[in-house]
Amino acid sequence: MVPLAPHTHIRIGGPATFFVEPYSERDVATVVRACRDLDLELRILGGGSNIIVPDKGVDAVVMHLNSLNRVVRDGDRLSAGAGVTLPSLLSGARSLGLAGLESLSGVPAVVGGAVKMNAGTREGETFDHLVSLTVVDREGEIRVLGRESFAARYRDGGLGDMIVVHATFELREDTPEAIFERFESYLRRRNATQPVTQRSVGCVFKNPTGDSAGRMIEASGCKLMRRGDIRVSARHANYFVNEGKGTYADFLALADEVRSRVADRFEAQLEMEVQAWD
Ligand SMILES: Cc1cc2nc3c(=O)[nH]c(=O)nc-3n(C[C@H](O)[C@H](O)[C@H](O)COP(=O)(O)OP(=O)(O)OC[C@H]3O[C@@H](n4cnc5c(N)ncnc54)[C@H](O)[C@@H]3O)c2cc1C
Repeated sequence: MVPLAPHTHIRIGGPATFFVEPYSERDVATVVRACRDLDLELRILGGGSNIIVPDKGVDAVVMHLNSLNRVVRDGDRLSAGAGVTLPSLLSGARSLGLAGLESLSGVPAVVGGAVKMNAGTREGETFDHLVSLTVVDREGEIRVLGRESFAARYRDGGLGDMIVVHATFELREDTPEAIFERFESYLRRRNATQPVTQRSVGCVFKNPTGDSAGRMIEASGCKLMRRGDIRVSARHANYFVNEGKGTYADFLALADEVRSRVADRFEAQLEMEVQAWD
């Protein structure tokens, strides 16, 4: 049994029955085939910044891809392993004078999780500069697929159950100073409006088309509501923060209460962005 809470940004959840950290894409494929043959459930853990894990843990094989951490440059393209953190990818791109990924500054993900969720901000999203992915499908086959193979949309890369092992981005040349300036200005705005130093999963709910979930939650009188140690952030109402010993049950109870108040006030159903494992 391996505790999962330390692998999540919000520090919630019990252990996994099995925990594996493959060192290559072939290892990933081997794990996938073994799970299929042994009829074991397989779950993928990225940077843990958008998941909550049940308090009792998960009876599954949890595969963590942080050892797939190589970045290779080919002209204006960068190819990164699924376990490369966005902060290190962004800072590497900046020193190489390759621009395009700055819109993702401050997203505490790894490449695999960012692609899976099509992580983004109002300035852009992960798929904007993606050209191809190397994935392992659930039969354990390694495949290289172009961006056009995926119907990416808002906070969903359209991967289905494929596992990302590498992603290649097409960037453009710019000076490190100009890249740094954009990076810093996005980060400053984020730091001013979001509770970045607290334990959270980022935005709990997706923004409905043309509106902001945070605005709707605040207007529904939910700011600072709490269940146990999980509280709606004072700084950004679409963030729930863990102020101590918050649990999965607390988190989901608070999410239900917030969703129901927003439904009463706006007649709109908020959709969860956070991935709640069960
Ligand atoms: C402080 C904070 C700020 C945030 N700001 C933003 C933001 O501005 N924009 C935004 O979009 N998100 C934001 N998020 C949410 C989060 O960072 C993104 O959803 C991110 O894409 C999750 O990546 P991860 O690597 O942490 O994935 P995880 O949370 O580990 O996993 C998320 C999902 O991806 C799957 N997954 C992970 N790796 C792979 C892989 N290699 N192949 C297939 N599936 C995989 C997991 O199974 C899970 O379903 C924020 C979160 C926090 C805590």
